[in-house]
Amino acid sequence: MGGYGGAEESIISRRVESIEESATLKMTDLARAMKAEGKDVISLSSGEPDFDTPSHIKEAAIRALNEGHTHYTPSMGIPELREAICEKLRRENGIDAEPSEVIVTPGAKHAIFEAVTTLVDEGDEVILIGPAWVTYEACVRYAGGKAVYVNTSPEEGYIPYDVGEYITPKTKLVILNSPCNPSGAVYPPEVIREIAELSIDHGFFVLSDEIYEKIIYEGKHLSAGSIAPERTITVNGFSKSYAMTGWRLGYVHSNEDMIHQMLKVHQYIQACASSISQWAALGALRGSQKCVEEMREMYRKRRDVLMDELKKIGVKCVRPKGAFYAFPDVSSFGMDGNTLSQKLLERGVITVPGSSFGERGKNHIRISFSASVENIKKGIAIMKNVIER
Ligand code: PLP
Repeated sequence: MGGYGGAEESIISRRVESIEESATLKMTDLARAMKAEGKDVISLSSGEPDFDTPSHIKEAAIRALNEGHTHYTPSMGIPELREAICEKLRRENGIDAEPSEVIVTPGAKHAIFEAVTTLVDEGDEVILIGPAWVTYEACVRYAGGKAVYVNTSPEEGYIPYDVGEYITPKTKLVILNSPCNPSGAVYPPEVIREIAELSIDHGFFVLSDEIYEKIIYEGKHLSAGSIAPERTITVNGFSKSYAMTGWRLGYVHSNEDMIHQMLKVHQYIQACASSISQWAALGALRGSQKCVEEMREMYRKRRDVLMDELKKIGVKCVRPKGAFYAFPDVSSFGMDGNTLSQKLLERGVITVPGSSFGERGKNHIRISFSASVENIKKGIAIMKNVIER
């Protein structure tokens, strides 16, 4: 008997069956659902700014609506925005970008999917720096590739010093994410430089996810694309820097050939990013950057509060130098990250278990400090009760 639907054979593709629901989104959705049920919830799981989008950006979107920018745009994005992105890449990142090398995407996540599926074939190896954001491994698996983890340690501040040892002839891609979600590490420029130079020597690509670039408290950002422009795919977006998660807008830069190949994927799954969001993003890039600094300084204060509170209750945690996450080790309290996260959940505090970011994260939880000082203090007080029981 042919056909699908029998007891043994799944009709779902092996690619989709090989991936799981996003652990971070699952926790965020859970927090939302609990709030909707009227429960008292302290959400320390959120991967998004808790600030409103700055008003000058909203006004740019309203203008776009009123001017009738409500149709498909060129698939790569409106020329005005691509030009503004190139100016930003040249000025801030040392990347000599041209508009023909940029695709505007519906979020950085989409750009990552496009990049990974454009490059990775069955059996190709992709190096991820662990602990790594959940999306990378899912995209690699979906494309049929193999995720190879370079595990970093809290003792070394989660910095990947030994990427070179993991390169094989099958290495197609190394994914860098500095500042890092979930560890908050900001990789020193010399580490990024070395990996970029390895890409030239060995012929692999670096996907540099720079979405938290503007949220750095200590350390200096270096774009791999300024060292190895022919071998780098730079991904960035507006979600985190400008509190624009709901607008779904990101972009990708690489050499023209790579962009041409990625555009094929882009065109069949998305046509173009939202027109209104693109005009809003143009407003973000062309407008005052004071809002970015103000939000960063708020995160810094919250980080300092969180670190003080964790210290008071004896929780070990590397001080995050960027992004808005802390990744404490909770093993000294006789439990792993899954157990603690579950116990906190039962008391209304939402975090993300560290195992979601790779096997080595299992003794950790991820705490987002994109939350009010009051909620951070309340959440850690509840954590104190849980670990002291
Ligand atoms: N890259 C990293 C490391 C992230 O943490 C996130 C969101 O959590 C993204 C990319 C996604 O950004 P966007 O909202 O632009 O899709």
